[in-house]
Amino acid sequence: MALQRLKSRALTRAAAAGSVAALITAGALQAGASQAASFSAHTPHGAGSALGIVRVHGAGSRHKAAADMLYNGGTVMTTAATEAIFWGPSWANSSFVGDKVTGIDRWYSGFGGSNYAKTSDEYSGSNGQVTASTSYLGHVIDTSQASGGNRTSVILAEVAKEITNPVPNGYYPVYVDLPRGGAGYCAWHSWGSVGSVPVQFAFFFNLDGDSGCDPQDTSGLHSQGLAALANVSGHELSEARTDPRGLGWFDSSGAENGDKCAWTFGAPLVTFSNGSQWKIQGEWSNHAFDTNTGYPNRSGQDGCLSGQ
Ligand SMILES: [Zn+2]
Repeated sequence: MALQRLKSRALTRAAAAGSVAALITAGALQAGASQAASFSAHTPHGAGSALGIVRVHGAGSRHKAAADMLYNGGTVMTTAATEAIFWGPSWANSSFVGDKVTGIDRWYSGFGGSNYAKTSDEYSGSNGQVTASTSYLGHVIDTSQASGGNRTSVILAEVAKEITNPVPNGYYPVYVDLPRGGAGYCAWHSWGSVGSVPVQFAFFFNLDGDSGCDPQDTSGLHSQGLAALANVSGHELSEARTDPRGLGWFDSSGAENGDKCAWTFGAPLVTFSNGSQWKIQGEWSNHAFDTNTGYPNRSGQDGCLSGQ
C-alpha cells in the first residue's frame, strides 16, 4: 500500500546511489516520507542509503501498487552471517533489557533454515541464489551513548567499531535504546564497507510502547517491545538478503520483499527452526503472486508468504 510505497520509494531508490531501506509504522507516514527522503541526502560516501524502511503502519493514501519485483543486476546474500549489536547505556539496565536481548538471540538463532527464511529462496543474483542458510554469531553490547537512525554513516561506524571480524556475507543489525520519537520509520537496512570488507547492516529504534511499530502480538510469549523488534527484524533481514546493496530485487516503485507485505500477517504465529514463535509479517514472493498462492498484502495482491 501507500505506506510501503512511501517507505520503499523514498528509501529504496536511494539505494541505487548506495542507500538504506526502512520499515515505517502507522500514523507517522507523512513524517516518515520526508525522513526517508533525507536518508539519501545524508548518505555519506562509502555508506549505502537507507532501504527497506519499515514505515509506521496505518496511514497513507491508496494507489495501485506495482506487482512482481524485478531484478536489478546486482548481488543477493546467498548466505548470511549475523551478529547483533545492542547500542546505548540502557542495555546495561536489566529492567530495560527485559527479554529483548535473549529474545533477539533466539530469533536469529532460529531464523536459519526456517520456513520463514525460505520465503526469500526464489531470488537469485549475479553471485547465486538466496538460501535459507544463515548463521548467528551472537551479540555484542556497547553501552556508550547511541545515535538515532537518521544517518547511515553513523550506524556503519558503530558496526566498524564493534565487529572485530567483519565478513562479506555479514549482516549486522544495530538495536539502539532510543525511542522513535517523531521519526516516521521503525527500522531500515543499508550497506557499506568496513575497511575493504563489504558489509550489510540495519538500524532499529527501541519500540517499547510504540504503537506505530507494533505488530500487536497477543500470544503472551514475549514483551511488547521484543515482539515489535522481532517483526521488523524479519522485514529487514529478508530485504537485506534479497537486496543487500541496492541492486537486487524490488518492484517498479522501489518496494522490496519486506515492504510489499509490511504490516500484514499470514499466520497468527510463525515457528522458527529452534521452535521459537513470533508474530511476524510475511514476505513477498513473485512465484506466489504469479500462481495466486500467497495471502494478500495491503494492496490486495496475493503474493505474500507467511513463512509459517
Ligand atoms: Zn523495507
